This record gives sequence, C-alpha cells and structure tokens, in this order.
Amino acid sequence: MVYCQGCPWRCCYCHNPHLLPGRAAGGSAWSEVLGFLRRRRGLLDAVVFSGGEPTAQPGLARAMRDARALGYRIGLHSAGIYPRRFAEVLPLVDWVGFDAKAPFDAAYERITGVRASGEAALASARALLASGVDCEFRTTWHAGFLSPAELERLTRTLAELGVRRYALQEFRASGGAGFRPEGGVVAADLDVLKRRFAQFSLRRA
Ligand code: SF4
Repeated sequence: MVYCQGCPWRCCYCHNPHLLPGRAAGGSAWSEVLGFLRRRRGLLDAVVFSGGEPTAQPGLARAMRDARALGYRIGLHSAGIYPRRFAEVLPLVDWVGFDAKAPFDAAYERITGVRASGEAALASARALLASGVDCEFRTTWHAGFLSPAELERLTRTLAELGVRRYALQEFRASGGAGFRPEGGVVAADLDVLKRRFAQFSLRRA
C-alpha cells in the first residue's frame, strides 16, 4: 500500500488526518518507493495507491506506469475528488475501491465540508462504471452523520448507476481526528440494501 499525501476535503470522520496536508515531513520520495518495489519483484503482486487522495498527485499516472512496468498489478483507493485525473488513470488500474460518502447532493458537502464535492464524486463514479474496471463502492456509515434515509437514497442511486459490489463500513470511533458522532449506529434496513447489489458486505466497526 502506498499512502499518498494530500486531500482537499475535510470529512468529519477522516481516519488519516495526518495525510491531509499536501506536504509533510517523514515521507518517502517516489524514487525510494520504486527502489523498494524493484527489490520486492516476485514477492508482491500489487501496488495499491491510497491516501489521503491519490488523485491529488500530478504524478500519479507516471507512478502507476512505473509500477506496471515492474509487473505489478495496480489498485486505487479514491473518493473521486479530481474527476479528470481519476479518468486519466483508469486505463492503468486493475481495481478501484471507491469511497461513496452520501447522496450526491448537499449531503456530500455536509460530510466533506467542500462545495460541489458530490458533483465531482458523481462524475468520477460514472467514469469508473463506464470503464468496466473491477471495483467496489463503499460507504463509511454512522447514523450520526448520514441518516438511514440518506443511506437508502445513496444505495438506490448507486444501484441505478450500475454498481454491483457494495460494502457498508460502520464508522469506527478509534483513531482519526477524534470525531465522535452522537448516538449509536442505528440499524439500517440491510435486507433492502442487500437486494440492490450482486455482492453486498457489511463491515462491522
Ligand atoms: S476524502 Fe478521504 S482522505 Fe480526504 S478527508 Fe475525506 S476521508 Fe479523509
């Protein structure tokens, strides 16, 4: 897993706040990561770019090409924040874990703190589904920041867009920026959600 520094969104539940600034001390240059990957050829199968938000990196496509040239398969964790760069790297990836946060409207802005974030995420989600790249959509969920009705609306939209694999990840209070939503995780109607997707997983906190 390669954790990329930088993300312009400020999700209330972010578990990697130290990765949000564009620059930070203590990271590794891509040349060092590449050296590591050269030494591990034959021992590792894949490189997954995660973050932060990997599409915040102008050099993401080049890094993916470098890793592919060494024979690695490529994974990407993304919230689809930069639709153009996201679409640019899709031909280079074998698998995408797509973070879908809320219905693609004002609810998105409430989670991310950024205007029009839902529009960007929706554009990227459409590009991903049109590409045919293997993918899983996932949502971090707690009724303290996303109501059961909003979750219902989001999953209905995703199913209509053509999402086949979906994971609901219960919010974990450990780590992150100390965010603690009020109340407990209210049970959603999981049977309804499950029926919407060919594959459905519930990841308990
Ligand atoms: S998009 Fe991901 S990395 Fe960025 S703030 Fe939200 S949870 Fe954190």
